[in-house]
Amino acid sequence: MSQSYSTSRPCRLRDVPGWDLETDVAVVGFGSSGASAAIEAAAAGARVLVFEVASGHGGTSAMAGGDIYLGGGGGTSAQRANGFEDATEDFFRYMMMAGGPDADEERVRIYAEGALAHHEWLKAQGVPYRDTYIPGKPVMPGTGDCLILSGSEYAWPFKEQARPCPRGHLPEAIGETGGFFLVEALAKRAKALGVEAIFDTRAVALVVDDDGAVAGLVVSTLGERDRFVRARGGVVLCAGGFALNEAMLAQYAPVRKRLADDGLSGGYDDGSGIRLGMSVGGTAIHMDELFITLPFYPPESHVKGILINDKGARFINEDAYGGRVAHFITSQIGDRFYLLVDDAIFQRPSEYSKIEIAAVGETWGDVEAELGLTPGSLTTTVAIYNQHAAKGEDPLFHKDAHWLKSLDEPPYAALACHLKEAYYPFFTLGGLRVRPTGEVLTTDGEAIVGLYAAGRTACGLPRWGKGYSSGMSLGDCTFFGRKAGRSASERARQAGA
Ligand SMILES: Cc1cc2nc3c(=O)[nH]c(=O)nc-3n(C[C@H](O)[C@H](O)[C@H](O)COP(=O)(O)OP(=O)(O)OC[C@H]3O[C@@H](n4cnc5c(N)ncnc54)[C@H](O)[C@@H]3O)c2cc1C
Repeated sequence: MSQSYSTSRPCRLRDVPGWDLETDVAVVGFGSSGASAAIEAAAAGARVLVFEVASGHGGTSAMAGGDIYLGGGGGTSAQRANGFEDATEDFFRYMMMAGGPDADEERVRIYAEGALAHHEWLKAQGVPYRDTYIPGKPVMPGTGDCLILSGSEYAWPFKEQARPCPRGHLPEAIGETGGFFLVEALAKRAKALGVEAIFDTRAVALVVDDDGAVAGLVVSTLGERDRFVRARGGVVLCAGGFALNEAMLAQYAPVRKRLADDGLSGGYDDGSGIRLGMSVGGTAIHMDELFITLPFYPPESHVKGILINDKGARFINEDAYGGRVAHFITSQIGDRFYLLVDDAIFQRPSEYSKIEIAAVGETWGDVEAELGLTPGSLTTTVAIYNQHAAKGEDPLFHKDAHWLKSLDEPPYAALACHLKEAYYPFFTLGGLRVRPTGEVLTTDGEAIVGLYAAGRTACGLPRWGKGYSSGMSLGDCTFFGRKAGRSASERARQAGA
């Protein structure tokens, strides 16, 4: 750890004793966004140095399922091979809904129009894909197949505004390691293009000149003196989010306190990239937004169950993506939640979900009593649900008829999905406000010269937990990582001209 520098305080250019390293583009972090930025910058002819605090590339990206949200333009090769047509406007509308009240229309438009070409780019970098499809609602299937339904496309209200189809694209990988194959391919490509990676080295401060432009950075390698790095085109911050920084979570995203201690994410998601950006005037937005999910499916049959709060009331159409469902859970008052199932749909929940059986009974009244809920609360909810489900309707929450079934086959069970007990993995969506070009913006909306950010260090496409669909983070990391790398290399080219 550096003694003298701080991610929240920049180093003045006049205090730099001399440059130890000089490059066109300096990238901080070698996950999917950093690798994508490095590839594009190097491909444009820039000299690129990547600084990575870990001993190898990967970051959280390498732990991920590797799902990338893609579509539009009539469909990707995997969509078309499996009979799905995906118009750009449907893709755009879904992404706009997924982005929530502050969806970034310009960014969504660029992504919707460029996603197909981006998929081809990923293939060209060596990311392996089969054009196969797994029907249903799989989550990180690990079969090596590609196309999955990874969001709320077929669920209300999304299905009413955008023609649905599956858009999650997984690399060919057996096990849950698609992200590993993704970053492996990108890192290999970066190396082939001459990108130099400096491992075990942490970016500890940005260097700014008197006009506030970023001229480089200070890096720290254990056991060595701090080094000063000049970056002619700029610094690209790709250091991930802040899912492992409890102090930042407490400050910005207190919903985290309602969850059990084990979160998600790995790597070094300590928020240092965001703090580096803020140290030179960058503003961070949507810092309270997390991706949170509840793995109550698979088993898929449990989507036919109903979720209730501790008042015995429903609050969401249970066929929405698990991430959306989890957000409606955390929007409720109280910490106790139950998934109600009957004998026809019950299967043992996955071990990792930590969803346990809370009560079993021959009648719904027995279950209600065992849970200690207000008499009549749960039973009324089930009676109303069953009355409409029998007709294939859900007038209260609009669950699709495909998932509707009267819960009328005893014995009945309530499965505990309590916030502090079940597994609610999360990662952060808030980060530096950036243009689609990757330029980091101040609160006034001015670009900070020489500073770019991508991936979860930035607030990109995914910015609303209730709309997040699997694949949106890595899609954003790789797509806009490329753009940030290109911007920094272009600035280096202009500086050199
Ligand atoms: C289990 C799991 C499954 C997931 N599955 C998916 C999925 O299928 N699809 C999807 O879209 N998203 C998924 N996500 C989310 C997604 O993986 C992340 O949001 C994404 O990988 C972030 O990429 P990144 O490039 O921003 O950060 P990272 O991949 O974490 O890369 C950041 C790098 O920066 C380094 N670093 C940090 N600070 C510094 C510093 N100061 N100096 C130098 N280096 C630094 C880190 O060590 C790291 O290597 C998943 C997440 C998890 C945990």
